[in-house]
Amino acid sequence: MSAPKNIVALTGAGISAESGVATFRDADGVWAKYDYREVATPEGFAANPALVHEFYNARRRALPSVNPNAAHMALADLEKGLTERGGRLTLVTQNVDDLHERGGATNILHMHGELLKAECASCASVIDCRGDLSIESVCGVCNRTGGMRPHVVWFGEMPRFMEEAADAIMGAELFVSIGTSGSVYPAAGFVAEARALGVPAMELNLEPSENAHLFSDARYGPATEVVPQWVNEILTMK
Ligand SMILES: [Zn+2]
Repeated sequence: MSAPKNIVALTGAGISAESGVATFRDADGVWAKYDYREVATPEGFAANPALVHEFYNARRRALPSVNPNAAHMALADLEKGLTERGGRLTLVTQNVDDLHERGGATNILHMHGELLKAECASCASVIDCRGDLSIESVCGVCNRTGGMRPHVVWFGEMPRFMEEAADAIMGAELFVSIGTSGSVYPAAGFVAEARALGVPAMELNLEPSENAHLFSDARYGPATEVVPQWVNEILTMK
């Protein structure tokens, strides 16, 4: 294979875990402690918005105390390197944290939304949100009260940027999946999409995912080790 110029990287909780961001689906993850139906569905929000705000406020407040790790930084290096080659890295992340941004990457599709943004149910505006949200929060665009919600995709809602992700995979020479369990659709379907288009697919994960058999190559180990090694290989390819 010649040096790829266009790469799509899908990232999941496994890349942020070593930064200390709690994962959601592991045995000791967030969903082992909270009922997702109460805090991560439109129905839960309608039933008890104060509880849902409290849940996401706690996560938003915890963000500044975690930092991007070597895997986030390596992907930012990859983005720079591919740009210099005349190509591009498209990061499609399932994570709602801002560690890719703080690691230095810029071309990021947050398919599950962002903790640091809020959305107005009245006017659909999406605005930056660094502080707490409550049922008294006022929309800075339409000035209405009571409609502000975390800009996070809940169970039963459509993930964002699916068309952009599909287009990026179509134009890629390599698809890489980093730190995802392979169990959450539609992201879990990206690898099959890539392979159907003849795009090679690499899995970088702590252990083989449920989709491991669909990948053309894989490296297993902590993200802070396998991601920088793999990025170095890509950037030194001629
Ligand atoms: Zn509004």
